[in-house]
Amino acid sequence: MGAASGTGSVSGALALAERNVPRYTSYPSAPHFNAAVTADVYRAWLDLLPRGASASLYIHVPFCTELCHYCGCNTRAVRRRGPVDAYAEQLIAELRMLESLNGARLTHLHWGGGTPSILGPHWFETIAAQLAAQFDLSALKEHAIELDPRRLDRPLIAALKAIGVTRASLGVQDASPHVQQAIGRIQPFEETERAAGWLREAGIDNLNLDLMYGLPTQSVADVARTAELACSLAPQRLALFGYAHVPWFKTHQRLIDTASLPGAGERLEQAAVAAEVFASFGYEAVGLDHFALPGDELAIAARQGRLHRNFQGYTTDDAAALIGVGASSIGRLPQGFVQNAPDTAGYARSIAAGRFATVKGLALTDDDRLRAAIIERLMCDLALDLDRFGGVAAFASAVRELRTLATQGLVTIDGARITVTAAGRPYVRIVAAVFDSYLAAAQKRHSVAV
Ligand code: SF4
Repeated sequence: MGAASGTGSVSGALALAERNVPRYTSYPSAPHFNAAVTADVYRAWLDLLPRGASASLYIHVPFCTELCHYCGCNTRAVRRRGPVDAYAEQLIAELRMLESLNGARLTHLHWGGGTPSILGPHWFETIAAQLAAQFDLSALKEHAIELDPRRLDRPLIAALKAIGVTRASLGVQDASPHVQQAIGRIQPFEETERAAGWLREAGIDNLNLDLMYGLPTQSVADVARTAELACSLAPQRLALFGYAHVPWFKTHQRLIDTASLPGAGERLEQAAVAAEVFASFGYEAVGLDHFALPGDELAIAARQGRLHRNFQGYTTDDAAALIGVGASSIGRLPQGFVQNAPDTAGYARSIAAGRFATVKGLALTDDDRLRAAIIERLMCDLALDLDRFGGVAAFASAVRELRTLATQGLVTIDGARITVTAAGRPYVRIVAAVFDSYLAAAQKRHSVAV
C-alpha cells in the first residue's frame, strides 16, 4: 500500500522517525521557558498591548472524570464538584485581572482541557457572561470547545449553543474495542455518532474529530477502519495525532505496556493509511496532522498560505495576542510567551492572592522571532522561501543539514526555495528542527518525530 511505498524510498527514514523533536506548536518550544517571566512581567506586557488590538482567548479546564492511559494533557481526575466549582470561580477572578484588555476585540475563543464540559451549564453561562461584560465579542470568528463524546447530553449542548459555541472537537482516538481497552477509554463509536448528531441538531455544526495512531495494540487495519468511521460522520475537519509515549513525564502512561506499542515503521504506515482514507473521502491535508474539507476555512487558509500554528494545533487565528487563562495555560504576547502554574493548587494560590499565576515564559529575541516565523511557515506550508527571511547565506548551517535531508528525499532545494516532498511530509518536524537553535541541548525531552 501507499503507506509503505511512500516512505520506503526515503533512506534512513526509520532512524529519523525515532528522533526526538518538538511539535513546534510554539518556537521556542515550552521546555525552554524560564522563570524570568513573572506575573509582573506579564502585567507589563499586557499593559503594552495597544487599545483595540485583537486577541484570542484560551481557557483551560484541567479536570476529567477519569484519566485515559495515553493522556498527555494537563488534567487530573475528579469525582466531586467542589474542586471544579472552586476552579470556575478562579477562572472568573483571573479574567477580571485582565482589566487592561477590557473592550479588546476577541477573534477566537477556545475551551480546552481536560474535559471542559465538566464545568456544566451554570459555569459556562456565568463565565460567558463575564467574557461578554469584559470583551468585544462582535468580531468573534470562532468559539470552539474540546468535547468528550462520553460526557455529553442535550442540556449541556443547549447551554454551549446558548453561549455561542460554533465549533466542537470530539475526541475519538480509535474505534476498536481492544485498543480502547488498552488505552483505558471505552467509547463505542455509537457514542461519537450520537454526540455529533446532538451537536448538529442544536446548530453546532462545525465539527472536528480527533484520532490517534501509535496506540497500544493498534494495527494499521484499526487505524483505517477508525478513519473510515470518522469520515462517515462527515466532520469539516479531522486531526490525526501520533501517540507520544513519555512515561517518565506522564506517569499514568506507565499503565501502557511498552511492548504493545507499534514500532516506528508501523506508526508511519498507520499515519499514511489514515491520510489515504481521508483523501478518498475528499479531505485535504493541512500541515502535518490536520485534514479538512476543501470548503473549510482551514483548508482555504492552507491553500492561501494564511495558516498559523499555535498551542491548539493549526488555526486561522492571526490575533495580535493569545491570552491563556487557567492552570498551565500558555499565552503569547508580542514580547513573548507566558505560562501559568501547571498545578491547580499553585494556580489557586496566586489567583486568591490577586496575582497572575505566571510561573514561567520566554522573552523573544529578534533571532527567536525570525526562526519562529520560518518554522511556522514550514509547519504550515511545507515549503519555505528563505529569501523572505534574510536569504540562504544567513542560515548556512541549517542549509547544510537540509542538503542531507534532500539526499534522503525529504526536501527539495531550489535556490532559496525549500519544499518538503510528499515522502517528507511525516518528517516536517525534522525539517523544521534544522532551524531550531535550542534543540541540541534538549533532544531528549521531546517525543519521537513521527
Ligand atoms: S478525556 Fe482527554 S484530557 Fe481527559 S484524560 Fe482522557 S485524553 Fe486526557
